[in-house]
Amino acid sequence: MDPWSESEGKRAHDPIFKCSSQNHHFKEMSADADVTLSERCTCIWVSGPIIVGAGPSGLAVAACLKEKGISSLILERSSCIASLWQLKTYDRLSLHLPRKFCELPLMPFPANYPIYPSKQQFVAYLESYAASFGISPTYNRTVVCAEYDEQLLLWRVRTQTSGTTGQEVEYLSRWLIVATGENAEAVQPDIGGLQEFPGTIMHTSAYKSGSAFTGKRVLVVGCGNSGMEVCLDLCNHNAEPHIVVHILPREMLGHSTFGLSMWLLKWLPVHVVDRVLLCIAWAMLGDTAQLGLKRPAFGPLELKSLSGKTPVLDVGTFAKIKSGDIKVRPAVRQISGRVVEFADGGLEEFDAIVLATGYKSNVPFWLKDRELFSEKDGLPRKAFPNGWKGENGLYSVGFTRRGLMGTSVEARSIAHDIEQQWKAKGMHPDGSSSSRRCCLP
Ligand SMILES: Cc1cc2nc3c(=O)[nH]c(=O)nc-3n(C[C@H](O)[C@H](O)[C@H](O)COP(=O)(O)OP(=O)(O)OC[C@H]3O[C@@H](n4cnc5c(N)ncnc54)[C@H](O)[C@@H]3O)c2cc1C
Repeated sequence: MDPWSESEGKRAHDPIFKCSSQNHHFKEMSADADVTLSERCTCIWVSGPIIVGAGPSGLAVAACLKEKGISSLILERSSCIASLWQLKTYDRLSLHLPRKFCELPLMPFPANYPIYPSKQQFVAYLESYAASFGISPTYNRTVVCAEYDEQLLLWRVRTQTSGTTGQEVEYLSRWLIVATGENAEAVQPDIGGLQEFPGTIMHTSAYKSGSAFTGKRVLVVGCGNSGMEVCLDLCNHNAEPHIVVHILPREMLGHSTFGLSMWLLKWLPVHVVDRVLLCIAWAMLGDTAQLGLKRPAFGPLELKSLSGKTPVLDVGTFAKIKSGDIKVRPAVRQISGRVVEFADGGLEEFDAIVLATGYKSNVPFWLKDRELFSEKDGLPRKAFPNGWKGENGLYSVGFTRRGLMGTSVEARSIAHDIEQQWKAKGMHPDGSSSSRRCCLP
């Protein structure tokens, strides 16, 4: 029997539904229904899991659920899928990792895609992924609060409509899947005088192309792949980056550096793999310290696991640093007007500053559960592969610090887990049981 229609029959006698609809303009919807809300409707019961975020992780878990016949509702704050990729990345971006590590479950990349697909190709892949699984997220819904209601045994997910109306809508579901990403909010560094800088200040999430900076002296502050790529994009326009990074060639010994690391990690501990990588990098790039690129105290993989900072995989920036087209500066001490003072006491004037200072999770701002996610960094407390499942039907996907490879593993686990609950308890997606009481405040 179709579990969704069976649950509909039960819901005719469901106290929650009846009581709520009388008192609270309570509206029922199926998980994949198109949501059109009347002004009256402020509370919506969702029959399947609610997924917060329509990035690759949200899409992946929705597809895995769909494959098992379970519909879900995706709530997305922006107006499109993969908003990080579509709205917040620079034009020249390609996948940093080879495509075989970035495929979502159940659908490979088109065979004619290059090893490092461009951002446009990646977005096209995601669009067709969503279309082929019939995934249509509900857009312009920012989740501002989600908490588990012990009496209803449901997650209450409060959203605000983006834009001018700011309408509040609450969704209720048995399952809540957090897929808002490790990169939800731009990190702004705390540098004295930055706010008073009279030129352009821009985070890399707003940077599109160096053409906007032609002829300008641009300081790029940051220590990751984005900073290095933005430098490369700017180097014809007198960019002067400050970078303190582990820089590694993108390919080593005929293999992608990432693939080689993964292979070595099967046999060797992290610190030994780090040593091997650094030796090969030294042989290929020489002593980067001579160019002002001091390596951090930890090896690249150890640093990634300790701090989440991704090692920089060189896409051509290093040659520009070597040739002197991109200049390396030590850390910024403070800024006064257009003048930047560096840690070595040097003073230089700039027209613009690009902040390649990364992103952070926003989960602690809206999720009222402190068990699964740490409020310190908004990431799961337990390391991969144990951080995907919490209590009371709460899940997390895409917070593994392992990119899309981690996402794929978690999406499958979550779908399997929800399917098991379904089968084992003969349960309905509304989680209904005879002991539940109606008590919407
Ligand atoms: C420049 C760059 C290059 C990268 N390259 C690679 C790569 O090559 N390979 C790789 O594996 N990884 C790469 N990554 C990491 C990449 O971020 C992830 O792999 C991927 O985008 C993660 O998908 P996600 O769905 O978990 O998060 P996101 O893509 O960030 O999607 C999260 C979604 O949640 C939405 N959201 C956030 N908060 C709320 C809220 N409160 N309410 C409603 N919606 C919300 C956001 O709008 C967003 O659409 C790269 C990252 C960057 C920044």
